[in-house]
Amino acid sequence: MAQKAEEVGAIRTVSNWINGEVVESQSDRYADVFDSATGEKCAEVVMSTEADVDAAIASAKAALPGWSKTSVLRRARVMFKLKELIERDRAEIAALITQEHGKVLHDADGSIQRGLEVVEFACGIPHLIKGEYNDQVGTGVDTYSMRQPVGVCAGITPFNFPAMVPMWMFPLAIACGNTFVLKPSEKDPSCSLKWAELLTEAGLPPGVFNVVQGDHVAVNSILNDERIAAVSFVGSTPVAEHVYRTASENGKRVQALGGAKNHLVVLPDADMDQAADALIGAGYGSAGERCMAISAVVAVGDSAEPLLEKLLPKIDALKIGTGMDNNNEMGPLITAEHRDKVRNYIDIGEEEGAKVLVDGRTHEITNSPGYFLGPTFFDHAKQDMRVYQEEIFGPVLTMVRVETFDEAIRLVNEHEYGNGTAVFTRDGDAAREFASNIEVGMVGINVPIPVPLAFHSFGGWKRSLFGDMSIYGMEGVRFYTRLKTVTSRWPTGIRKGADFSMPTM
Ligand code: NAD
Repeated sequence: MAQKAEEVGAIRTVSNWINGEVVESQSDRYADVFDSATGEKCAEVVMSTEADVDAAIASAKAALPGWSKTSVLRRARVMFKLKELIERDRAEIAALITQEHGKVLHDADGSIQRGLEVVEFACGIPHLIKGEYNDQVGTGVDTYSMRQPVGVCAGITPFNFPAMVPMWMFPLAIACGNTFVLKPSEKDPSCSLKWAELLTEAGLPPGVFNVVQGDHVAVNSILNDERIAAVSFVGSTPVAEHVYRTASENGKRVQALGGAKNHLVVLPDADMDQAADALIGAGYGSAGERCMAISAVVAVGDSAEPLLEKLLPKIDALKIGTGMDNNNEMGPLITAEHRDKVRNYIDIGEEEGAKVLVDGRTHEITNSPGYFLGPTFFDHAKQDMRVYQEEIFGPVLTMVRVETFDEAIRLVNEHEYGNGTAVFTRDGDAAREFASNIEVGMVGINVPIPVPLAFHSFGGWKRSLFGDMSIYGMEGVRFYTRLKTVTSRWPTGIRKGADFSMPTM
């Protein structure tokens, strides 16, 4: 573990945010945060103790009665103001993402936009949270339903979208009248405090939004705390399973979004220029560190050769370098450890017998000091190979060749993950069959990264999502509220006196 910042020099320390202010922890554990394009330490983050988590949850619990009873219009107005403030500070937030994560500035800005759209959606909460009403369900009897906040909610988020993924959670949770504790990734933690500052400036009362930094110690404290009513998790599948199991056993509502291996199926009639452009962006953008990145290409029939003819020159021409230069298209990986893990997968794929058409291990960018790896392309991979089966989460595309469309569908459906997928074709009938029969939660038709907009909901199938509900959109409103249904009758209806038989209306 790192030394504490004050002892080292000018490097900033990322702390907790509890009850409306930065709170120093008593923890003696800190982790280093790196500028992934230079490999230099740029910050350090506290690894919160159980006492820190307890304080954050206590603050959220104390703020709950006041916030949950605050008028829905006032809650919406905080979101309107937050939207304005994010727009004001957008460039600063993008630079923070790029420094700690590595993705190119324009890509970081795009991720802010996608998060901002959830804030915009949350501005409509008075309409979204409306209940239903029936009058006269029986003589003189009315029934209405309302959606009430669930209580103190927690969000646990991954490194790859330090701004966007928290924004998938807290705007709706808070707009629905809950209070919130965020545990961001320890690898790029700084955005979390920016959200805390902006929410405070937007008028959110102290305690409604809290941040605890840290690792599994903080996560497990959250999962085992009986004051937490609902947990939203986004991260790798093994951790998602742990979070889902523990939170469920402890009686919490939980949505846990996990890892992915997203297939792009290319039919022989596809527009190959379009498919190649889609693959270059969806495979190597953000250095492949997106849960909706395309990592497996399925070439059907004789589509492989024309596709490669278009794609390989584009891979050669990829501009790789620091994310701070907006001319670049791909930045570094998050940490040295993760880069080495991805590089190891390239060794594995080669040993398994997949053909390395482009080798990221030998790209000249690997001589730079940051955590860079060049793009890699495997051809002739087989279904049982680890480079096909496992999530690599780096700039590696793995192509499998199949004879028929049916084989392609079977391949995708047999994969353990089911987050996103896409088909590229000019045939409407094939596209329709694909959309209907594919066992994946988010499907693109000639669209490589089909991330649903904020007014739809995001979520995979199979081992890409544990829990019943997808995230944001109306699913988010349902997740962060409990349904209450009231049946009412006013005094004229009971004038006759008590009734002892089962009411049948
Ligand atoms: P991760 O699972 O390592 O970490 C996610 C969060 O869990 C972090 O806050 C981390 O501190 C915490 N954590 C890590 N290990 C833990 C443990 N043993 N016990 C308790 N908590 C623990 O994921 P990551 O490396 O930060 O992010 C990349 C992963 O996230 C990829 O698998 C990617 O596919 C996935 N992801 C999925 C989606 C989606 O929507 N399905 C979106 C983004 C990222």
